[in-house]
Amino acid sequence: MTKLTELTIEKAKAGLQKKEFSAVELAQAHLDAMAKNRDLNAYIVETPEIALAQAAAADKNGNKGLLGGIPIAVKDLFCTKGVHSQSCSKILKDFKPGYESTVTANMFAQGAVMLGKTNMDEMAMGSGNLNSCYGAVLNPWDKERVPGGSSGGSAAAVSANLALAALGSDTGGSIRQPAAFVGITGMKPTYGRCSRWGMIAFASSLDQAGPMAKTVKDTAILLQAIAGYDAKDSTSTNLALPDFVKAASDINIKGKKIGIPKEYRVEGTPQEITELWDKGAKLLKEAGAEIVEISLPHSKYALPCYYIIAPAEASSNLARYDGVRYGLRVDGNTLDEMYENTRAEGFGAEVKRRIMIGTYVLSAGYFDAYYKKAQRVRYLIAQDFINAFEKVDAILTPTTPTEAFKINEKVKDPITMYLNDLFTVAASLAGLPSLALPIGLSKNGLPLGLQLITGTLQEEKLFNIAGALEQAANFTARPAI
Ligand code: GLN
Repeated sequence: MTKLTELTIEKAKAGLQKKEFSAVELAQAHLDAMAKNRDLNAYIVETPEIALAQAAAADKNGNKGLLGGIPIAVKDLFCTKGVHSQSCSKILKDFKPGYESTVTANMFAQGAVMLGKTNMDEMAMGSGNLNSCYGAVLNPWDKERVPGGSSGGSAAAVSANLALAALGSDTGGSIRQPAAFVGITGMKPTYGRCSRWGMIAFASSLDQAGPMAKTVKDTAILLQAIAGYDAKDSTSTNLALPDFVKAASDINIKGKKIGIPKEYRVEGTPQEITELWDKGAKLLKEAGAEIVEISLPHSKYALPCYYIIAPAEASSNLARYDGVRYGLRVDGNTLDEMYENTRAEGFGAEVKRRIMIGTYVLSAGYFDAYYKKAQRVRYLIAQDFINAFEKVDAILTPTTPTEAFKINEKVKDPITMYLNDLFTVAASLAGLPSLALPIGLSKNGLPLGLQLITGTLQEEKLFNIAGALEQAANFTARPAI
C-alpha cells in the first residue's frame, strides 16, 4: 500500500471516506515524517497539538468538507490565531496574531488540518529562501540547492511528502518559481480571487494567496476551499466561485489555442529550458490544441517594472513596523532612536534594500521618472495580455530561466537573483491566473517546469489545459529522500 504521506489530496479524501485510515493517522504519519526531515528546515514551527485536535474533530465529523481531515502546511506570512506568524522576519519577533487570516479560516471551515508554519524569504522578498531569519531551506532533490522562494518551505514540504499540500503566496512568482524548483504544482489565482485579509503584506497590488500541491487537481481542490469574496478585503472579487475541481477533471483541450510569446525566447536561456518549452508545446499539440506564435511586446520591461512597483509598495507597507505596536522593540534614548534601532536590527539586508529602493522611487523628484512611469508600463503589459487573449486561450512559457541553483551561488548578487523572476512577474503585474507544473528533469536530474497563463478570472480554462499538459507530460520522478 502507498504510504499515507505519498497520497494526493484526492486519494486521501477517498481513503478517509472509505475509512481505510483516519484523519488522526494521516496527520500522525505527516508529523512523524516532519520529525525525521527537520534538516530540510521547511517548517519553522510544527503544530502537532493543533493538527491532532483538528484531525480528531474531522474524524468525528465524518471528514466532511472539501478538505475534511487533509493535512496542510501554511506559509508563515498567513496570520494564524495564537500561532507564530512572523513572515520569517525578526521584526515580528514573538508575534502571535489575535485573529485568523481569511484563507486559513476558509480552509479550516472545510475541515483542513494545519501541520505547522513554513519557512520563507523574509517578508516574501526573494527567490531562494535565503533571506529568512530562520536560515535556508534545503531542496529535497539536492540538499546543496535552494528550493526557490519566497514560498521555499511550503515547496520543500510538499515535495518531500511532509504535507499533502501547502498554502503559499505569490507577488511576483513566489508560488510558481519554488514549485518549479522542487517538481510540484503551484498556482497563482487571479488577483482578487483570494482575500488578502490577514496576510502579512508585501506589495498589496500584487500579493495573492494560492495552492501548492502534488497535482493540478489538488491545487484546484485547495483553491476551491480558500477562495471567495471577503468584505474585509476591498480588492476581493465579488463573484460566485466556479467549480475549479470539475474544470481540473475535464482535460479535453481539442481546438484550444495556446500562445507562445516570441519575446520570451530570451538570449542566454539554457538549451534544456528551451527544449522543455518546445516539448510542452508539442505535447499540447498532440492532445489536440493549436499552437500559435504571439507577441507580448512590453514583456521585456516586466522585470524592471516589477522591481520598482513591488519595492515602492513594500516601503509603504513596512512603515508600520516601528517597534511600538507589535514585534521587536530595541530601545533608544529618543523615540526616533527607538524606531531606528528597531528597524536596523529587525529587518534583514534584502528587506532594507527594498525599503530604500521603494522610498527612492516614490520620493519627490523621482516619482514621475520611476514610479509613475512603471505604473504606465504596467498598464501596457496588461494590455498586451488582453490583446493576446483575443487570439489564444492560454499562454505557455518556461517557469524559470534555470534549474534550482546552489545555496551559495547567488547570495551576493541581488540582480542575478531578481532574474529568476523573468517569466513569472508579467502575469503578476497583469493580475492574471497562472499555474506552474513539472514537465521533465534537467541534465543534473533536477525538476524543470512550465507555466500556463490565462485571462483574468479564467481559472477554469487554466485548470483544464494544465490538467491535459500534466497527463501528457506524466512527470512521476520524486526526490530520493
Ligand atoms: N522573487 C520575487 C521577489 O523577490 C517575488 C516574491 C514573491 O512573489 N513574493 O520579489
